[in-house]
Amino acid sequence: MVSMLENVIKTYRRGIELNNYPKDFEELILKPQRILHVNIPIKTSKGLKVFEAYRVQHNNFLGPYKGGIRYYENVTLEDDIALAMIMTLKNSLNNLPYGGAKGAIKVNPKELSIEELEKLSREYIRAISIIIGKEIDIPAPDLGTNSQIMAWMIDELSKIEGFNSFATITSKPLELFGNPIREYATGYGVAFISKLIGEKILDGIENKRVSIQGFGNVGKWSAYWLEKFGAKVVAISDSSGTIYNENGLDIEEVEKIKMKTNKLTEYKDGKKIEDPNYSLYVDCDILIPAAIENVITLNNFNKIKAKIIVEAANNPTQYEAEKELLNKDVYIVPDILANSGGVIASYLEWIQNLNWYFWDEEKNKKELEKIMKNSFEKVFNKFEKENLRSLRDAAISLSLERLYKVAKIRGYI
Ligand code: GLU
Repeated sequence: MVSMLENVIKTYRRGIELNNYPKDFEELILKPQRILHVNIPIKTSKGLKVFEAYRVQHNNFLGPYKGGIRYYENVTLEDDIALAMIMTLKNSLNNLPYGGAKGAIKVNPKELSIEELEKLSREYIRAISIIIGKEIDIPAPDLGTNSQIMAWMIDELSKIEGFNSFATITSKPLELFGNPIREYATGYGVAFISKLIGEKILDGIENKRVSIQGFGNVGKWSAYWLEKFGAKVVAISDSSGTIYNENGLDIEEVEKIKMKTNKLTEYKDGKKIEDPNYSLYVDCDILIPAAIENVITLNNFNKIKAKIIVEAANNPTQYEAEKELLNKDVYIVPDILANSGGVIASYLEWIQNLNWYFWDEEKNKKELEKIMKNSFEKVFNKFEKENLRSLRDAAISLSLERLYKVAKIRGYI
């Protein structure tokens, strides 16, 4: 199994090679600038537990570090480095004034009581408080975390700093000056990008068949907005399996069932397939892996029937598998473009927090669309004009170009 870090390094190297950047740049950009590794002791109902946790600050040439915090029991420090490196590319591509970072705690949040979860979240932010700040490093949620966790963290941080430091964490609840679109922004962005690529490749998204792997925050909101944009979501999966209906699933109903039973397979109107990975192999126009990394591999790529893959998760496609899919003329919209709605909404939240001046939902949505459309056009035009192998080649080239220029101007190379 190729690790996420190996995969991300291959992607960086590919971009560096394509653009003939010097070895010095490669040396510089492949190494994270700072890593904080902590062990957090928490007294739980089952006795003392010590949780391994990290904050990786990969690069800050373009501005303060920015990236989420993941609660996931299988996470490793290597994964966290890879995820921080993805954030650097994502923020650069979207012209945000940010570098890349990512935090993680090795924990299954579902195994903790709500009180233990709060304690762990407060202790984690305390532990990393020495290296974060509104113009230093700005955390947000990722897999396994949400706005309530951000609320505990900002409260704890405010106690440490002695003032309400709202701009230091994004994706907070509305009451703590969160962004009205942040809850659905990643999924909205995925749907919006699917619409844009659909207009280029499929003559529109209307009635096009979509299959989604994962029904967490990103999968759920991607489904919701894709249905609103007129697409037909024919399959969705969660850990209980895949549900399928060739006439389209009723997303509101799917959501109700998930809320009530926590199992998608309780949905009545359609077929159920026990295998959660079946969603990857459904005959569809657009496939949206929205669960976790490394799901499209050399072992299963040949079962994929989609024309377009929109990467809602970070790093869902392995480097070698992508090569094979490109040979079959599949279009792959890379994560750093497709799922950037989350960090873009975070950016909008941050600038409003810094200014203590707030926009309504519509204005936030418009601003997000403007940034995403601009990034999409840049990537697609470069891909077409330069006859590049993939949309990822275009995206990483644009990201690295900005990083390279700044590294040079700042005097590193
Ligand atoms: N965790 C999200 C991502 O991977 C968002 C990060 C943020 O809002 O800073 O892009």
